[in-house]
Amino acid sequence: MSLNPDRQEALVPLREYFLSAGGPDSHLSPGWLAQRLGMEERELLGALAYAVRDGLVELHWEVYCPGCGLGLEEFEKLDEARLMNECEPCGLHFELHLDRDVRVTFSASERLRRERDAGGARAEPARLEDESVPPTRGLDLLLVPAFHEMFAGEAPAPDESLRIGRVAILFTDLKGSTAMYAERGDPLAYRLVRDHFAILAEAIERNRGVFIKTIGDAVMASFASGVDAVSAAFESQTELHARAEAMGGELIIKAGVHAGACLSVRLNERLDFFGGAVNTAARVQGLSHGNDVVVTDAVLADLQAEASAPQFQIIETSEAELRGLPAPIQIHRLRQ
Ligand SMILES: [Zn+2]
Repeated sequence: MSLNPDRQEALVPLREYFLSAGGPDSHLSPGWLAQRLGMEERELLGALAYAVRDGLVELHWEVYCPGCGLGLEEFEKLDEARLMNECEPCGLHFELHLDRDVRVTFSASERLRRERDAGGARAEPARLEDESVPPTRGLDLLLVPAFHEMFAGEAPAPDESLRIGRVAILFTDLKGSTAMYAERGDPLAYRLVRDHFAILAEAIERNRGVFIKTIGDAVMASFASGVDAVSAAFESQTELHARAEAMGGELIIKAGVHAGACLSVRLNERLDFFGGAVNTAARVQGLSHGNDVVVTDAVLADLQAEASAPQFQIIETSEAELRGLPAPIQIHRLRQ
């Protein structure tokens, strides 16, 4: 997965904003600035990843108390955050949730401020934000591919795990890959598997997700919503079908999606997700026959609630006992 150089174009308005408008020294909310610059928030978050890398801006991970809403502390890096927290004013002890208690803001770096001051622009005294723009959650930034790729080390500390209340996890696997390796020989099979990874990576990014890792021929990806995860799976299957001839045979992928709570951890020096939702998604994927997407009730609810959800049919609904889960769960087999 190479970075798309076009993305860096989004840096231009960001830089201009800070230099010409006398950009403020205070912490800015990405959602607010995106609106002001007429960009999508996610596009701005992608540009911010480059801006942080280039030393133009600094990131702040701000922790808020889920009880009283007070801002408690902020970190420059995610590995400074701890799972267990206490709010002294209200006395609440809480486990840090990246999608509930952490907001991401950013400010102009020292270097950019000097450049601005040398150009004669003055800093705005305070941030003039529209409170109606929702804050950017810590999880939202972790689901931006450019950030994930450039700041692979921006993850919880090695001995720490941070909670995520709800994230959608997609697992895919190649159907019949052992036979394919045997039939086509390793070099050709390897090339096909790589092509299929690329198709999946593009579909995942197009649907606002992030490619977490490959495990053999399997892929794990995460998304803010189950709708995006299912769309990425359907689009990958459609494209593999369309390119079957060019690729010398159709690669069929099995796919499963679940949305729920999990932990964010650092594994092999990268951000990874672990536990609850991840285990369930992996088990649900194991029920896929290929060219279908197996989902849980949580994901079906996302699909039914979202007007922009892809067209789908429910082929089968059943109770499944999944290894490692205490009780059977209801699963739905979907096709487009
Ligand atoms: Zn509090």
